[in-house]
Amino acid sequence: MADVAENLWTAHPTHTLRAGTDFDLAAFDRNGTPGWAGDKRQAKAFMAQRGKLLSELQERLFADGRTGGDRSVLLVVQGLDTAGKGGIVRHVLGMVDPQGVSLRSFGVPTAEEKRHHYLWRIRRALPEAGRIGVFDRSHYEDVLVVRVEDLVDEDVWSGRFDEINRFEQKLADSGTTIIKVALMVSYEEQGLRLMERLDRPDKYWKFNPGDVDTRKSWDAYQAAYSDVFARTSTDVAPWHVIPADRKWYSRLAVTELLTKALVDLDLDWPRPRWKVETQKRRLAATMSEASVAEAEASAGQTLAEVRAAEAQFDAAVARAAALAQRPPAQTPAAASGDRPGPTDETVKDEVSTKDRADDADQTAAGDGRRQAQKRPKAKKSADGQKAKKGKDRRRSKKGEKAAKTKKGKKKASVGR
Ligand code: ADP
Repeated sequence: MADVAENLWTAHPTHTLRAGTDFDLAAFDRNGTPGWAGDKRQAKAFMAQRGKLLSELQERLFADGRTGGDRSVLLVVQGLDTAGKGGIVRHVLGMVDPQGVSLRSFGVPTAEEKRHHYLWRIRRALPEAGRIGVFDRSHYEDVLVVRVEDLVDEDVWSGRFDEINRFEQKLADSGTTIIKVALMVSYEEQGLRLMERLDRPDKYWKFNPGDVDTRKSWDAYQAAYSDVFARTSTDVAPWHVIPADRKWYSRLAVTELLTKALVDLDLDWPRPRWKVETQKRRLAATMSEASVAEAEASAGQTLAEVRAAEAQFDAAVARAAALAQRPPAQTPAAASGDRPGPTDETVKDEVSTKDRADDADQTAAGDGRRQAQKRPKAKKSADGQKAKKGKDRRRSKKGEKAAKTKKGKKKASVGR
């Protein structure tokens, strides 16, 4: 496995994105690419490399589960509408064998779920041994939307933080590695992503009028998320807060966190509970002499290939483990997660047509709309930086086509 761009990670997301006691969501740059010194194209190349490693690691986890192991991984993905939760599932988990992944999305509780404790539906959805479980939204909705929408009294939701911590501690003790990621999109970017859904007939299905109401509660959600990070980022289940204005970065960062979790499991292939030679003899007795001879002739080469692949795997794991040790640089910029990302001009030049198609729902309309966004004052500095970037945002080929069909050659926009 060639080392495409490992050194472009100057610091591992487990260090740069982890919400510690001093984490300040209001000051968080949602357009940053903390720890990553490369651009979007390099990120994609690195993801492809990680995909191979991830899928090998996942196969070991699956094999471990099949042979009595009790380990599993749970990736909890939180974020407001348009933050890119679905993209994480598609682009990160999409790199591994779907048989080893159990995905569960949590929406408004059903009538049956409402009759139970809020953790009831969560417990039923936990990954079996050997699986990577993914929660698209989770029990955290029970201290987020439930709080913001005033669905239960404060004394109820406020007691849930400790309850969740205890629940996650038990889960970790039972063999589940918990990775919690919160995708944090900026107010302005969320507006653009929602508006694009309204600009594109092929994305109407993603829009829900309630999204605009939720957006009106932006500040309340930010306060609720801040409390979630302050109260439930524990040693066994820390929060990683992911800047989500650049989808390619959030996918890259989550990939690296997942890779680390699997590397840390330090799994080997399960040993057989039977003797290989005995089973070979038994099988050979059922085969023709010619087939036995053919199998014997290729056995040596097969084993050599397996050993070579294992050596490459071991080297990749060692590099991934070393990368996970990489702490943030002690410069003020790196410490605040402010490492400058690639300019959009660079990305524009480098990005391929396929990349554009991949990012179809990441594109947005131009400056005029950007200026028109009303947003909370606290977001000003990060948004200011974002506005520069906005000039160069690209509309995907698909989006362009849809827009042109509907409104001639001008960019599409409802009510403008
Ligand atoms: P998404 O927006 O993630 O694509 P949906 O459109 O199905 O998925 O939205 C799920 C909705 O369910 C969200 O608005 C979320 O806040 C809501 N929800 C999730 N869990 C709860 C809960 N425990 N109580 C109330 N609402 C919830």
